[in-house]
Formats: sequence, structure tokens, C-alpha cells
Amino acid sequence: MLQIPKGLGWLYLDLNSYFASVEQQLDVRLRGKPVAVIPSDTDATCAIAASYEAKAFGVKTGTMIYKAREICPGLITVPARHDKYVEYHHKVMEQIDQFLPLTKICSVDEVACRLMGSECEEENAVEIARKIKKAITDNVGVCMRSSVGIGPNRFLAKIASNLQKPDGLTVLYATELPERLAHIKLSDLPGIGRSMDKRLRQAGVTDIRTFWNLNPKHVRRIWHSVEGERFWYALHGIETTTNEAPVRRTIGHSHVLAPSMRPRAKARIVARRLTLKATSRMRRLGFFANAFALYVRYDIPKNIKTKNKWHMEAKIPLAEDSFSFLKALNLLWKQMITDDNPYAIKHISVTLYGLEPADKIMPDMFKELEDPVTIIQKRHTRLSTAMDAINAKYGLDSVVIGTLPETMSRFSGTKIAFTRIPEKAEFHE
Ligand SMILES: [Mg+2]
Repeated sequence: MLQIPKGLGWLYLDLNSYFASVEQQLDVRLRGKPVAVIPSDTDATCAIAASYEAKAFGVKTGTMIYKAREICPGLITVPARHDKYVEYHHKVMEQIDQFLPLTKICSVDEVACRLMGSECEEENAVEIARKIKKAITDNVGVCMRSSVGIGPNRFLAKIASNLQKPDGLTVLYATELPERLAHIKLSDLPGIGRSMDKRLRQAGVTDIRTFWNLNPKHVRRIWHSVEGERFWYALHGIETTTNEAPVRRTIGHSHVLAPSMRPRAKARIVARRLTLKATSRMRRLGFFANAFALYVRYDIPKNIKTKNKWHMEAKIPLAEDSFSFLKALNLLWKQMITDDNPYAIKHISVTLYGLEPADKIMPDMFKELEDPVTIIQKRHTRLSTAMDAINAKYGLDSVVIGTLPETMSRFSGTKIAFTRIPEKAEFHE
């Protein structure tokens, strides 16, 4: 018997009319106007993106420009500037990263984030989505609207993000299917191209409801591939991890460092910041962890063939306070320097694992109450929790352990470390 998942597990964000929105963000004269972005490096004359104002006239990605001008006489065409789209991609991801880890960056304008613990409750997931959308429009730009989908797996979260555009926010449960998608064409589903649509038609499958009720083995035969079966399960909300490592419950953060942050001493500050973020999220979700892993990739010129990455895990006593994990980070960092003595670091990722829900381990904590180490750890936990509360209230990095150099304010978000004075309204948030 097929077990349809009842809950939610993923948030998927898709920026609306991305290239055209970046152009409108950069040039106020384009705002509110029909804009088509055209390739900059060829004579090909089709739109590679269209603003919502242009879409209203029927201009889409792929529309030939002569045709687009016929249906939309006021159309403004702008040559693509891919460097700007990448720059804005990083700005947007930095905002999202403040709220959820970027589990899978799917394209320049799409990202999937896995939800954990209390984040999976609809009310909380929606609240996080609202905060993310607001952070993007407040801190990156008013034109940077996005559609967010929340669903049981990555696939249905992506489909949910397509249901409302622009500026959408849609929750989709597997238990609401196939009814919630009955109005959609099969070819509108990501992964069903023209030839697959034709094959499905030949098999007598022309709508979502029929597809939904097929036997997955039958779908596999239509597809001529196990991918068909995977697709069917994905549509039913079931996580298919055949190609991926088994899902291990972890909390992590990673970051590709800007060139100015790559020297070893500065990179260490980034590693500490990532560790603090991960532990703070762990506490928010109500977990303890007993292991810490550090992964780094060195910044080495491409023509030099040498070892370019390092990875190590450390076991620690079950803890939830930031200090325990910063201590583990220090140990691993020293070991990395002993091993490789790298000059510059390009990519850092930290992971907490061996996660245990806090309520499950409380009895042990009471047993060890007399242990002086436990008492210190509890004090550290109280301090860490207090810091979380202050940061939640006054903005990221209002209080941190250690120091943030000036350039870190960009890395951590838009707020200025230490010197930022909270707005009056925030006291009541
Ligand atoms: Mg998009």
C-alpha cells in the first residue's frame, strides 16, 4: 500500500521573470514597462526573458522579436548582461541563506531548501517564506519578486511555486492530489517535454488524474526508463533518493568566499560564523548534536596540481551550545593547518550531525546535573540561547562571539555588525 506523505518538507523559491527583473531593478526607466531581454552575443532575435508587462501581451521566452513587436508595440529590448544576473543571484541567495540552508541551487533563479523539525509546520513554513520574500525585496531590490512553493518533496514544492505567478506563495500537500493539479496540463509539469507528452498521449494518458492513477511500473514502460517510475513517485510526494546518498539528518551551512575573505585568517572568521549559524538553527529546531564536520576547499590556481580539499569530522559530547561546536571547529582548523598549511580558502562548509531531539535527551541531562562540565555547558547553552533571542529581535549579528571584520557585514547580510541601532518598531516584533 502506497504511503502518501501527510506533511511538508521542502521550500522552493523561483524568482519571477528573472533576467527582465534584474534589468528593471538596475534601470528605473524600465520599471512598469514591457521589456524583453535578448541575447547579447548573437544575431538571434528571440526573447530569452520577458517582464510581466511584456508577458501580459503574450511575449514569452522564445518569442521572435519581430513577432513580439507586432503583439506588443511598446516593447523595449535590452541585451542580456549575464554578469549582472550572477551578481544578483549571489545577493538573493545571501538573503535566503539567513533563514534556511540552500540545500540545492537548481539554477540561477531557483533554489530548493529542505525544512526540518518545526519548520515543517505549515504556519512556520509560510512565515519563513514571507520573511525570505520580504528580505529579498527589501535588501536586494523591489523588482526582485519571487514565487515560493512549499511541499512534501522537492518536486511538489517546485510545482507549487509554479501555481501562482508573480509573487506567489503556495502550500501544496500530497494528500490534496490529484485534485489540486487537475487544471494543469501534463506538459506543464517539469520533466514532461514534448516527446514524453506525445508518448503519454499514445498510451492514452492525457491528464494528471489519469497519470496519477497509473501503476508506477506502467509509467516506467511508457518512459522506457526507471526515471518514469521515479517521476510518478515524486508526483505522489515520495522522496526518491536513488541517485543520492541516503538522507542523513544533518544541519549545515556552506559558503563560497568572496576573494577578499579567502586569506586563511579571514576564512576562519567565516567558518566561525557558519558554525554559529548552524548551531543557532539547531537550537531553534530543538535538537542537540554530537558530531561536527568541517569541509574546506583551498583557493589554488587551476594550473597547479595539488591537493585542494580537506575534510574531517569530530565527535563531541552531545551539546546544543555554540561554544562546544566552536571548540570542535578550532581543533579541526588546527588539524587542517598542520596537514596542509593552506594559504587561502575558497569554500567552507560546516555540518552538525548525530542529531537528537532535545526532549528525548532531557532525562540524561538531569542525571549529569552534578557534573561540573555539564554545569558549564548549561551556562553556555543559556548564553547561546540568549544570543539567539537578541539576534532574532535586533537582526543578524547584533551579538556574535568573537569579531566580525567590516567586510563581514556584507557576508552576513545587510546589517552592520555591532553598530546597527535597531528601529523602534522592531522592539515589538
Ligand atoms: Mg524563474
